[in-house]
Amino acid sequence: MSFLSDRVQAVKPSPTLAIDQKAKELIAAGVDVVNLATGEPDFPTPQHVCEGAIKAIHEGKHKYTAVDGIPELKKAIIAKFKADNGLDYQADQIIVSPGGKMVVFSALMASVNPGDEVVIPAPYWVSYPDMVKLAGGTPVFIPCHDTKTFKISSDQLRESLNARTKWLILNSPNNPCGVVYTREELMSFGEVLRDFPHVHILTDDIYEYLVYGDTQFHTIAEVCPDLYERTLIVNGASKAYAMTGWRLGYGAGPVPLLKAMKTIQSQSTSNPCSITQYAALAAMTSPRTFMDDWRRQYVERRTAFVARVNQIPGLSCEMPDGAFYIFIRCEGLLGKTTASGKTLVDDMDVASFMLDECGVAVTPGSVFGMSPYVRVTYATSMENILKACDKLEAGIQTIK
Ligand code: PLP
Repeated sequence: MSFLSDRVQAVKPSPTLAIDQKAKELIAAGVDVVNLATGEPDFPTPQHVCEGAIKAIHEGKHKYTAVDGIPELKKAIIAKFKADNGLDYQADQIIVSPGGKMVVFSALMASVNPGDEVVIPAPYWVSYPDMVKLAGGTPVFIPCHDTKTFKISSDQLRESLNARTKWLILNSPNNPCGVVYTREELMSFGEVLRDFPHVHILTDDIYEYLVYGDTQFHTIAEVCPDLYERTLIVNGASKAYAMTGWRLGYGAGPVPLLKAMKTIQSQSTSNPCSITQYAALAAMTSPRTFMDDWRRQYVERRTAFVARVNQIPGLSCEMPDGAFYIFIRCEGLLGKTTASGKTLVDDMDVASFMLDECGVAVTPGSVFGMSPYVRVTYATSMENILKACDKLEAGIQTIK
């Protein structure tokens, strides 16, 4: 009998963090690797946000705070929802947590019982299924019906819902493929969800500000106001303000759920770091004009990257509308043999080949529930992107 719980044995460590770790170790050991596996902006946290933290340190904001966040920050979050999403919340509907990840985790822990199903469109962010399993539930996947758009249809949604469904998880802009659902598509999901009044919607909006060109961000509670009462919005500072290391996420939703999530947080992490909360307060109460330059750079990198990938034999990709990832189809490499004699059977093999034989760290699509793909990030310099493309091109030329 194992000392470890059945619960933890049913899940795996985050594969994206593991690959990132391996790439960082290789780089630290002097190996020439371009790391495209990370899920974080390469920009530093803006100076005015850092100043908010420094001021908090000097002012002695060193103690425990309210479990669910300092009132000033909750107020700023409420103002954000009103201004950006046209949604009204009260303080008891808001939780501030150490990362958006913790918001998702406490929501699932607070609501999922054994036998409950959680519906997740694929490809999905790696952590959803494992968190569902940790909570004792069963993840149910909807494979996207269109590999050009990576979107699911409302008919597919209808087929996947039943009496056991507790949650539908939506993530738009999406990690790993950058897909952004339109207002009309969200409304069509709303129509289906009206027939399943017991189903709650967890919408992970963490990439809200990262949409490009004419693409508009929408969240389901805004376009379907009648679903407001059963929607939990998850968001955070990590991707928006380049604050991944600070650990700050927030959630907004129905009071009974939020109350239960606060109980989970009070018995696990307690409040998010006090200093981080003041940094996030500075972020959320200052103009976001600096993001225009970030978006401009993301667009430039994305466009150059997509163009190069589509010139590499065996690889192809679409132009994503949001987030900072490209989901690259690598079917054309399968069945081939690398210079070191390895046959590429699946996208795990392709990702290993890209790291070991090309010097480019990528994440295999299978960890996001869709094969054969690899995910790369363009939250890195143009120089790195072009270098990675050169390395991939050279490496792929050597396989037969
Ligand atoms: N949701 C999605 C879709 C993500 O990609 C991530 C991070 O990669 C998170 C949530 C969690 O972010 P954090 O816990 O840093 O707020």
